[in-house]
Amino acid sequence: MAGYDRLILRFGEYTIKGKNRNRFEKRMTEHVRNALASYPELEIQRAYGRIYVHLHGQPHAAVIERVRDIFGIVSISPARAVPPELAQIQEASLEIIRGYDDKERTFKAAVRRAWKGFPHPSQEMNHLIGGHVLGHNPQLKVDVHNPDIELRVEVQQECALIYSEIIRTAGGFPYGTNGKAMLLLSGGIDSPVAGWHAMRRGLELEAVHFYSYPFTSEQARDKVIALTGRLSRFAGGRLKLHLVPFTELQTAFAGMRQDPLVITLMRRAMLRITERLAEQQGALAIVTGDSLGQVASQTLGSMNVIGRAASLPLLRPLVMMDKQEIVEKAEQIGTYPISILPYEDCCTLFVPKSPSTNPNLRVVEKVESFVDGYEHMLGEAVAATECMVLEPDQAAALADPAEEDWF
Ligand code: ATP
Ligand code: MG
Repeated sequence: MAGYDRLILRFGEYTIKGKNRNRFEKRMTEHVRNALASYPELEIQRAYGRIYVHLHGQPHAAVIERVRDIFGIVSISPARAVPPELAQIQEASLEIIRGYDDKERTFKAAVRRAWKGFPHPSQEMNHLIGGHVLGHNPQLKVDVHNPDIELRVEVQQECALIYSEIIRTAGGFPYGTNGKAMLLLSGGIDSPVAGWHAMRRGLELEAVHFYSYPFTSEQARDKVIALTGRLSRFAGGRLKLHLVPFTELQTAFAGMRQDPLVITLMRRAMLRITERLAEQQGALAIVTGDSLGQVASQTLGSMNVIGRAASLPLLRPLVMMDKQEIVEKAEQIGTYPISILPYEDCCTLFVPKSPSTNPNLRVVEKVESFVDGYEHMLGEAVAATECMVLEPDQAAALADPAEEDWF
């Protein structure tokens, strides 16, 4: 394989946001530094619209794995860097091509001369590099429109960068550059995906999970801890999880003998508690995994009545997505195998036979007014909330079914 000596990390759309640019680029650089903290040999350099990671002998593939999940990066290229001299550029180009096997392929050289002091203009360079590569590689044929291999050369004053691979990554905004929100995180498939989408838009998150011990098990709780740990890798390596005891409220709702409304009542209580936690933590929105029409609590009628319990904006990144798309994303971001572990959520336990798909707000408010000590229970749940901070490695142990004997 070509001996790559640096990575090019390209910034995304936020670079157009005028005065925020500097702040975003600084934040990006911090995230990259954090993600690579276990590689002290690496050197990280901020440049115009990109970051260079100087590898100093470290394996490029392993380093790419560490940074590819960082939001705000749109693409990554492993590159060779050589002094800006024709012979050196030609030699490095051959090395990159040597990284491919000997199959017949089409090829094109694309040279950009950023440093106008370099003696050969871009067009001429295309021929000088292309001709040299073809001369040494009879298996290659030129195709300037749709080549299998596009060998790119950027000639700058301090060095020339040569690369052929552009790895597309998630893009979005750097984590935490667009404010903070609370994520309602169940143990299901949807809410972790909703969290990923929210973080991709630059939202800082704190996860909130409601559990009903002893109706829900210790493992159900561990599952949410594992999911939070898994998501923390998209959050700069640390994600807070608030665990809210919900048994008392849930039992009270179940005792109201209004079975079709139990889920509505529960969801409204969750929002009320989350809103209080949001205020404590300085968060300005609540993110949920709701997807329109998926279940009874996610019809428009239900969303309306449930949403009235909160005054903060409710963000529902998945609201218009199909289940299949959500599942694919869950697989991509690695939450799927954890989400499908077979532990019950507090809501599934209390699911009535026929939950209301179109609850009446007045009726719901009336029922709530009859719940003994409702306000008090909300306050107690908030006061008894536990908080922990998760990191990716902690999740790995919990989430590995083989190690933990999940099944
Ligand atoms: P998910 O896969 O995220 O559980 P779902 O399709 O199972 O979603 P519901 O169980 O109706 O849908 O939940 C809708 C949303 O309510 C969830 O996406 C999540 O944001 C929130 N939610 C549900 N249960 C809990 C819980 N126990 N703790 C925190 N949030 C929850
Ligand atoms: Mg669920």
